[in-house]
Amino acid sequence: MAAPGKLSTFRLPPLPTIREIIKLFRLQAVKQLSQNFLLDLRLTDKIVRKAGDLTNAYVYEVGPGPGGITRSILNANVAKLLVVEKDTRFIPGLQMLSDAAPGKLRIVHGDVLTFKIEKAFPANLKRPWEDEPPSVHIIGNLPFSVSTPLIIKWLENISCRNGPFTYGRTQMTLTFQKEVAERLTASTGSKQRSRLSVMAQYLCGVQHVFTIPGRAFVPKPQVDVGVVHFTPLRQPKIEQPFKLVEKVVQNTFQFRRKRCYRGLGMLFPEAQRVESTGRLLRLADVDPTLRPSQLSLSHFKSLCDVYRMMCDEDPHLFAYNFREELKQSKSNTQEDEDEDDEETHAL
Ligand code: SAM
Repeated sequence: MAAPGKLSTFRLPPLPTIREIIKLFRLQAVKQLSQNFLLDLRLTDKIVRKAGDLTNAYVYEVGPGPGGITRSILNANVAKLLVVEKDTRFIPGLQMLSDAAPGKLRIVHGDVLTFKIEKAFPANLKRPWEDEPPSVHIIGNLPFSVSTPLIIKWLENISCRNGPFTYGRTQMTLTFQKEVAERLTASTGSKQRSRLSVMAQYLCGVQHVFTIPGRAFVPKPQVDVGVVHFTPLRQPKIEQPFKLVEKVVQNTFQFRRKRCYRGLGMLFPEAQRVESTGRLLRLADVDPTLRPSQLSLSHFKSLCDVYRMMCDEDPHLFAYNFREELKQSKSNTQEDEDEDDEETHAL
């Protein structure tokens, strides 16, 4: 029992080091699965500190592996920690941590891409969207091939306020390849400004909190790693459906070195491209000669709002995909060539 007036704090008892756990359970990293482990507990503590105050929080850790970050989270006085790990080899090592922190750690052998965290924590943690963020945090160091699709999925969840954001504005602290971290946080006009910058920043406050040099991981990856903190915004900077924003942003950035009217033009079928692109840019009050990286979030807001109005006027417009048109025209050309061949044979 804690002394009166003092908060009780939890510390894990002495345990084998992560390096010893790796040896003990033969947890050699599988290169094909991009497994790179953090063994330095000062670094894992730093990641966890950057997540914010975790006292009595419910934390969801994705991809715990041998459990370095897991230990730091358990030492941060959390109420509960739920970890989801795909590779069964790590489960016994994690079980050892669970035994050392009775009642705190729940281990799920599963895939973060399909796991439903919205059902895993008590419903009374839910906060109205406009309130302060709930006592629910997501933390993880995942392979880069998983973290990028996962953040896109979670951004869509933020826009729909479902999945992990059923609880409210759940904060996330995640690692990415440094270049991706820079793209996520790039401001208007910067070299790294990209599709990811706009998609993340219209929905979240995004901070690249620090960089971990590749040499801190075992085995050492080819690149450095950026730790990024996300807090969903009370009010998104663009109030249109996620798929619509994604389409406008994706089209804009597909010719990233060209002026923005080129990419935006691809939102429209060829027959109406020049006229509709002109109208879109005029109504949105966007200078057609700007490059995609020079467009601010308020430019994107206007473009999405006007494109939405144009989609409401023409119900076929949203389904239009210039790549399909390209494929179609390529296969028509192929058919024409095949027909020519047949004609040649017939002659
Ligand atoms: N978090 C640990 C650390 O920092 O040392 C391990 C990092 S390692 C880069 C990524 C971990 O995520 C591995 O343990 C891997 O098995 C796990 N993982 C990869 N894909 C996953 C998925 N789809 N669902 C759950 N875990 C996954």
